[in-house]
Amino acid sequence: MAAEHVIGAVAGAASLVGAVTGAISGALGTAAKIKEIAEKTKNIELQEVVIELRSKLLDAKQEGLTLREENERLNAEVSRLSALPEVQFRSGLYYKKVGNEGPFCPGCYDAKAKLVHLTDISIMEFGAKWQCPSCQQPYC
Ligand SMILES: [Zn+2]
Repeated sequence: MAAEHVIGAVAGAASLVGAVTGAISGALGTAAKIKEIAEKTKNIELQEVVIELRSKLLDAKQEGLTLREENERLNAEVSRLSALPEVQFRSGLYYKKVGNEGPFCPGCYDAKAKLVHLTDISIMEFGAKWQCPSCQQPYC
């Protein structure tokens, strides 16, 4: 199923981001050692190059942290989407497959992955039978 594929991809990306940020931390440690050597040998040119290298590695580390945050957000979204109950589309509206509960708003389910109970407005509104309390869409 597509959701399982996405869950696997998100978990793989999290592992990759962890490996990359770990490698960058290791490289920062190496850069610190090079800086010590450059200071001991009083090599100004090497000291400047190491400072530039550290700056670029810190940028890369920040990018890795941003990727980790994005990955955590996607992971939460996948969990939310995979927790949605299965529905079936009948006569233009959604109903839960188990228990036949419904109807639910097709617009909200399709666009926002939200199950919104439709309100029965058949007494108040001539022509429409249901209305979504979230997006206000009327349905017959
Ligand atoms: Zn709606």
